Parts: sequence; structure tokens; C-alpha cells
Amino acid sequence: MQTMSKADRFIKGMTEMPVVDKKWLFGNETDDPLRFAFDAKRVIHPSVRGRTVPAEEILTRWDAFMRQSGRRSKRAIYIHIPFCQTRCLYCGFFQNFLNKDLEDAYIDRLITELNMNSMSLFMKSHPVHAVYIGGGTPSALSVQNIERLIQAIHLNIPLANDYEMTFESRFHEFGDDKINACLKGGVNRFSFGVQSFDTKVRKCIGRIDDRGKIIDRLNYLMSIDNAAVIIDLMYGMPHQTMDVWEKDVTTLIEIAIDGGDLYQLNVYEDSKLKEAVQKGALPSAAKTSEQAVMFKRGVEIMEKARYKRLSICHWARNTRERNLYNQLSKSGFVTVPFGAGAGGKIEGYTFFIDRDIHSYMKRIDAGEKPLMFMMSPPDDYELYTEIIGEMDLGRLNISMLSARYGVDLENMLSPLLEAWLAKGLITMSDGFLELTVAGQFWYVNLTQAMLDWLMMIKSNGNHALNIKAIAAQG
Ligand code: SF4
Repeated sequence: MQTMSKADRFIKGMTEMPVVDKKWLFGNETDDPLRFAFDAKRVIHPSVRGRTVPAEEILTRWDAFMRQSGRRSKRAIYIHIPFCQTRCLYCGFFQNFLNKDLEDAYIDRLITELNMNSMSLFMKSHPVHAVYIGGGTPSALSVQNIERLIQAIHLNIPLANDYEMTFESRFHEFGDDKINACLKGGVNRFSFGVQSFDTKVRKCIGRIDDRGKIIDRLNYLMSIDNAAVIIDLMYGMPHQTMDVWEKDVTTLIEIAIDGGDLYQLNVYEDSKLKEAVQKGALPSAAKTSEQAVMFKRGVEIMEKARYKRLSICHWARNTRERNLYNQLSKSGFVTVPFGAGAGGKIEGYTFFIDRDIHSYMKRIDAGEKPLMFMMSPPDDYELYTEIIGEMDLGRLNISMLSARYGVDLENMLSPLLEAWLAKGLITMSDGFLELTVAGQFWYVNLTQAMLDWLMMIKSNGNHALNIKAIAAQG
């Protein structure tokens, strides 16, 4: 029987690919790439899946990591608080309503978990540069629990002197006593999910406090001048016209916030928001093509105010904001997870801790790390992770990655790059791929397409395959 050559197998794979798949790689034919380069955002976070580790091997693998010192590189920890005072309509991550007894019991277990892991060689060997206390709503915790948790972090985690400690917050019931407990404990970055300053938009998505209160509290925190203050704004929500969005971004600048994120609203299938729109209780959220125009306008306003761009979605006004945790976690650095529902990464392995708070607490009481899911890294994960981290910054250093991994990346990606150049999604110069504003809006699709393309080449068995020649034949 005649065997197919690698090139033939590749061409066969390409020609058999359904039209819809090709569109996800190369994009649509359009004169308006900002709005129509793709039909939709294909993924929320670009990724390459490895192999699911069998449940019975998860703890053995984790223990093996904890028994070694691990590589010296920047490290982060993520601590999850799975409680919220209210449920926001758009949320796809809600876990539990706040309950005082459960809160106390949970913080006891979280401290035990920090304690358990702190004894390991892995945790003792290298300093931790970024701590992210996220949720859920960490600011919903009581003053005592905030104090207990932060104290446990200092006792158990070898923090680098220039550590970044972020406390994710909402202004609702986040009084001066809680703010002081954070600052006294060494929190040096507050991140608020403001989403919109517009009271009508806020109320329709389930946020409680109005524009006046949000602005007053942000001004107060800025006046303390003791921590970076960061806010997230979201575009595309019901009632959020372009005028409202422009006012949202302009307000961020007027308050002189240290840093800000501009995020796209995702309407999850099982969200309360989708249900409310279907029932006619709320007008529809903006379409993806409308969100694209809002993104471009947001970028223009931030650039006009000379905010410095730290990633595609994130800006800083000054040197106080470093955005360290986000950069480390997106670029594949070690992120050790703590708490029910937390996720993390060590040497390309991805971990998730049990989301069910009762089962989480039971397993902590039994003296084990309550992991429920683990995935091993795919081959070449370092390259893929660097591509994801670089693209999040709005560019790809093709020359550097080619030299580092011993591959001709430009040649390998050339069919995609040529299509994206022609469509106005990227520019190429000095060995760098740079995303245009349209490319920035669609960057998750472009990144996922690159990863899929490289995986497809890999599955044909040869990274050095001359793709340009193959594409010409095809
Ligand atoms: S505060 Fe955050 S986690 Fe809680 S319901 Fe709202 S969006 Fe979801």
C-alpha cells in the first residue's frame, strides 16, 4: 500500500477542512475587517489543550511538583473567594451567595491550605512576585476575615520585596474599615469591576451602587495614595449606547485612575442576562460588529489621554500600575492556586481546585490539596504559551521566537500571515508582527488560528515542513 508523504497529508488536511474552519483561520473576505473579519469571537481565551490527567494520578503529580524546588522564574499565586453579595446578570462564574457561617469556615480552610503548601520545597524555594485575591467578591469578606487571610499570606508565602498584591473589589459594602485592613496588610493594588459608570446600565446588569457613589469612592481611594487603583469597564451592555460608552471611558480618565481594562461583554448561554433579553425584560446587548466599533473608540480615547498600553485590553496612567499578575499568568509563569474554584499552572500543567465549597472544605479537612482537574502540557507548550503571551501584548516577536525554538516561524505561518496582511489585521516589520486596531479586536481568533495551524503542522510530523511551497501546490 502506498503511504502518503507529509506534504500530501498536509494538503489533504487543508482541502478536506470545511469552509467554516478555513474562515476561522484566514478570516472573511471583507472591506471592513474591524467589524467583519470574523463572524464571532471563537474563544474567550486562546489555548492548546494537553492530555487530561487521570483522576487517580492528579495528587501524585501535584505532590511530585511540591517535592522539587522548580525552575527559578517569576511566580504568582491566585487565591479564590467564592462568595458574592448579589449575582450580576452577565456573570458566568457565580458560585455562592455570602453567608457569614460559611465564610468563616471557608477562610479557616483557605488558611489551612496556605499552611499545608507552605511547608513544601516548591513553595519555599523561590520568591512570589504577584498575589491575586480574586473571586467572586473578596471585598464581601468581613474585616476580620480580610485581616486573617492577608496575615496568613505573609506567614506562608515568601513574597518578593517588590511584590504586587491585588485585592479584587466591589464598592458595595466595602467601607473604610475593610479598605484600611487591606492597606495595613500590605495590599498595594485594588481592582474594581466597575463595568459602567452609568447608573441605568449598572442597575440593569445587577450592580447596586450609582454613578455618584462609585466616583466618590474612587476619588477617596485615589486620595489615600497608597495603592494602585484599577477599574474594569465593559462595552456592549444593554442600554449602553456609544455616547454612554464614551462617557464611561472619559470618566475613567477624569478621575485619573492608575490603570484600566476595557473588556467586551460576553453573553453566556446560561446567563441571567440572556434569559432577561429573551423574555423582553432588557434590550439586546450590542452585536459583535457593534462592539468592535466601541472597542476602537475606547482605544482612541485612551490613546488621546496618553495612557500607556500594557496589553491589548489594559492601560496604565503611571508607573504605579504594573499589571504583573495578569502578565505572568497569561504568559504561562508558575501560578499556584488556592481556594474553591481557583485555577493555576506549573511547568505547563494546568490545575483546577474543586468548585464545590463543601467538598473543598471536606478535602482540606482530610489533609489533601482539593484538586479536581489537571491537564498535562502538549508538546511545544513553551512556544505556544509565548505566542499567547506576546499576542496579548498586541504583537509577536517572530524573529526572537524562531531563534529561540529553532524553527522558521514566519515561513510556517506564512499562509495565515499573508491572508491577514491583505485583510488589514496585521502589519509586519523588523521581524515583528503587529496587530492593527482591527487585529487587536480579533486577537483571540488570530492567536487561536496560529496555535491550531502550528498543531496541524505538528500532527503532520515535521515542524520544518515548507508550508509556503505546500500552499502553492495546494
Ligand atoms: S461580582 Fe463578579 S463573580 Fe460575583 S456575580 Fe458579579 S460578576 Fe459574578
